[in-house]
Amino acid sequence: MINLTYEYRIYPDQQQAELMTQWLETCLHVYNYALGERRDWIKSRKCDINACSLGGEYIIPVDAPKPTYYQQKRNLTAARKVIPTLGAVHSQVLQDVMGRLEKAFNALWNSGHGFPRFKKRFRSFTFPQLGKESVGERTIKLPSIGEVIATLHRPIPDGFEAKQARVVRRPSGWYVQLVLEANIEVPDITPSGYAIGIDLGLSSFVATSEGELIARPRFFVEAQHRLKGLNRAVSRKKKGSKNQQKARQKVARFYERIANRRKDFHRKTAHHLCNHAGMVFAEDLNLKGLAKGMLGKHCLDAGWGEFLDTLKWVAWKRGVYFSKVPASGTSQECPACGASVKKDLSVRVHHCPECGYQTDRDVASGQVIRNRGLTAVGHIVDACGAEPAFGGNEAGKLKSNLGKPALYPIGSASGGCH
Ligand SMILES: [Zn+2]
Repeated sequence: MINLTYEYRIYPDQQQAELMTQWLETCLHVYNYALGERRDWIKSRKCDINACSLGGEYIIPVDAPKPTYYQQKRNLTAARKVIPTLGAVHSQVLQDVMGRLEKAFNALWNSGHGFPRFKKRFRSFTFPQLGKESVGERTIKLPSIGEVIATLHRPIPDGFEAKQARVVRRPSGWYVQLVLEANIEVPDITPSGYAIGIDLGLSSFVATSEGELIARPRFFVEAQHRLKGLNRAVSRKKKGSKNQQKARQKVARFYERIANRRKDFHRKTAHHLCNHAGMVFAEDLNLKGLAKGMLGKHCLDAGWGEFLDTLKWVAWKRGVYFSKVPASGTSQECPACGASVKKDLSVRVHHCPECGYQTDRDVASGQVIRNRGLTAVGHIVDACGAEPAFGGNEAGKLKSNLGKPALYPIGSASGGCH
């Protein structure tokens, strides 16, 4: 089974747009209400029996059951019969909101995320089921909303069927993300072919073990200036006026544009890396730890986590083996002889006193990562600088091509909703 997500822009008419906006509002209320119910119950059980807080207590009867996913879902169904605004929304869409809340709580219990927060707005809602043949030539049929005009800029690949749809509202307009499913078994990608290691850094976005340095696009630096100007325009306008609203819109659209450009850059870089390799290894960054540290702001801004996710997905799509390796000390090790070479951040060149190997600091890290990756998948590591294992680039590529599973026609190389 393969799942893909394709995103299409839709152009709802005024009535449809109003309806969808209303749905988003209702979803928001349902989410916050259900969260409130759970939070109050949890708080009511936290008070010691002999010591009440001075400020206030949440008092809920002892025999009141803990609000659970299923129970809240049942209550929702009952409430839909009484409250017309709830009844106006497609039932499965609201059920899905409960699913989102449950997911947030699962993240709290299982992954150490924080307590779910009340939301100020909802940007999307999901239809967990779609009717048969809901994707037409120029329209997408959404349950209860009807046919919406869509730009189907790329066809749905053969053998795939739209199973779910998520409607997203962005500053630039409305979009639909279709989850496409096909009943194909895909073999796992085996590690083979030419290997590269990548080091993510601040001085250059990516340094590969091949000696390639990919810079961060200048756009993001320039964007900061532009944002400052736009935000200033917002604060100059009269509070709550039409003009301030317009200025706010501009800021929102610009943020969307930055996000789009970052995504585009990530995808292009990922495809570029996969062009040259059968295996890609990256360091397993402790992003949370990094963000807390000294370089926090810069690290978050660089979007490494997002890039690694994109790279993983692109590599899978292209039949390239992708894996992460432990990141500790990659910059302090000589890729050629394995000796420990201490250097602080200001030293930009790796020069090994043991074997005399010399190269860019980040490139050396990339090579160490490649070596670690190769060891992890059970390949023999050749010393750096010498010809790589598997007889060079072309032979390696050929081998990896042969090993690729036939997936589906990949139309544009840079496409793909991630
Ligand atoms: Zn050395």
